[in-house]
Amino acid sequence: MKRIIHLILIACLSLGAWSCSEDKLDPVSRIVDSQTEQNEFDEWLAKNYVAPYNIELKYLMEDIELDMNNYVAPADFRKAQQMARLVLFLAIDPYNDLTGGTDFIRAYFPKLIHLVGSAAYRNNGTMLLGTAEGGVKITLFYINALDFDPAFLNRYYFKTIHHEFTHILNQTKPYSPDFEMISGSDYVADTWNTAFSETTCLQAGFITPYASSEPGEDFAELVSVYITRSAAKWNEMMTTAGAAGAATIATKMDIVRDYMLNSWSIDLDDMRANLSAREAQIPSLGLNNL
Ligand SMILES: [Zn+2]
Repeated sequence: MKRIIHLILIACLSLGAWSCSEDKLDPVSRIVDSQTEQNEFDEWLAKNYVAPYNIELKYLMEDIELDMNNYVAPADFRKAQQMARLVLFLAIDPYNDLTGGTDFIRAYFPKLIHLVGSAAYRNNGTMLLGTAEGGVKITLFYINALDFDPAFLNRYYFKTIHHEFTHILNQTKPYSPDFEMISGSDYVADTWNTAFSETTCLQAGFITPYASSEPGEDFAELVSVYITRSAAKWNEMMTTAGAAGAATIATKMDIVRDYMLNSWSIDLDDMRANLSAREAQIPSLGLNNL
């Protein structure tokens, strides 16, 4: 409780006195209480997450679910509702479409999704967008900044979900060891954020600076970046990569594509088209009316 009071104090000091004295108090508690009443959103979650997939989406603050080294704020109730709908629409339904049913998500998607309002940071100062633990839980940060622009959604949340989900798939069925040989000794471990910029990583055959950390991250970045970028944007990145960089990435993508198709019957081009069509429908989802 002390930690919560401390957080509230910091929020008041940083926002200025007016926001504390004039903002209406939100009637919905963000703190988990042992006797939290079921609200309409809880019922919606039970119907749309728990019943079909046995997935629990936690939107209330539970510090036991978090790394105690980070001070973070709870997710805003409305943002959490909007995000819950978006996760279904952009991260769960597309896999149902591609695999022809709900069995794939039921079997492999993390059973716990935890929404956190504010951002968290790594020791090297880079922003932590999401974490996945042992394939069972995914934490999404920065929910209170939610914006419906597809580029923003992919950058801060959905690329992360696809990235973490790729790790789970890789843990279940390993990819070809040939993949690790392609960039071999070029991986830079924890210095990825200083070793490469968004341009130089491409020239070195890595789709993002983070992909240069180690092969598992490289693989997950390739899947998640590929399906969340348009063909035009991907081609633009390959132009920036230059002949050598683009050739390295193409060699990796051959393995990535084959793996997703042969191990999971997921065609990455079909997934990209599915996601792109869904992104165009976001404005008609009525998220602002929640
Ligand atoms: Zn990762």
